[in-house]
Amino acid sequence: MEPLILDGKKVAADMRAEMAAEIQRLKAEHGLTPGLAVVLVGEDPASVSYVTGKQKACEEIGIYSREHRLPADYPESDLLALVEQLNQDPAIHGILVQLPLPPHIDEAKVLLAIRPDKDVDGFHPVNVGKMVIGEPCYLPCTPHGVQQILLRSGIQIEGKHVVVVGRSNIVGKPVAMILLQKKPGANATVTVCHTGTKDMAHFTRQADILIVAAGRPNTITADMVKEGVVVVDVGVNRIEDPTRKSGFRLVGDVDFEGVKAKASAITPVPGGVGPMTITMLLHNTIQAAKTLSGLGT
Ligand code: NAP
Repeated sequence: MEPLILDGKKVAADMRAEMAAEIQRLKAEHGLTPGLAVVLVGEDPASVSYVTGKQKACEEIGIYSREHRLPADYPESDLLALVEQLNQDPAIHGILVQLPLPPHIDEAKVLLAIRPDKDVDGFHPVNVGKMVIGEPCYLPCTPHGVQQILLRSGIQIEGKHVVVVGRSNIVGKPVAMILLQKKPGANATVTVCHTGTKDMAHFTRQADILIVAAGRPNTITADMVKEGVVVVDVGVNRIEDPTRKSGFRLVGDVDFEGVKAKASAITPVPGGVGPMTITMLLHNTIQAAKTLSGLGT
């Protein structure tokens, strides 16, 4: 049987429509316009493209967005001063500093400088700690997007064995933590694999839900999964493709065609997790605006 294709574009569009309506309500009833500041240091093409995408998405649903594009040699002390200014700015509810930062800037120092209640990326240690102990906080966008695409596609997570491949601080570890919580929409048994895992296929074959964030094409092949598995492929890799005008195409970390034959549901790349990431940033910005204005969550 053909698997269910988990359509991130559709889930993201549905969520953005709901958020646009919520913003209209906040504007009409409370005179509140959620505001996001995006800070970009340097001109890394991927970062420029992400930042442009984030701004466009904000405008489309009615979030006020302000962009600070700074030169690659911008001093760390000036960046910290800008963050502090944004921390104090009442029109700004969310602050996002696009990573990676140039090598002369200490990323950890900058992330620590962002007020935790404006940290809509969810990377501040205060938010990471709250996520781990299950307190309300801003959840990091990609892992939260993985949870939402599953739930909104009707996939039950509770009681399932979730196997995560990858343990980065932005995807692997937080997605494991989010799905482990004793909460509705989570409450899974979670196993995390990484390059130190011996015989990874032994674990991935036990997965009811397999989440792959390794950053390497074909990390997961059909022989490594069981029949009926649900697969979420977070990976985004450029591979050469002379048939394309650009000379490349994007693939995930999973051998899509091979694994699709055994899966009950699977995310495509592109069009799976990708559109969810910015959507969850918009969600966090609205949550921040409401929290900072005393309107609850
Ligand atoms: P990362 O920081 O490079 O981490 C990769 C993780 O995968 C590491 O923990 C690594 O293990 C593990 N790993 C790599 N190869 C492996 C293998 N063969 N077997 C087992 N584990 C392996 O990457 P990331 O930032 O988490 O991103 C992962 C992928 O997701 C990338 O393709 C990235 O582009 C994509 N991504 C997509 C989105 C989106 O919005 N769709 C957002 C973020 C990231 P060790 O810890 O042992 O080194």
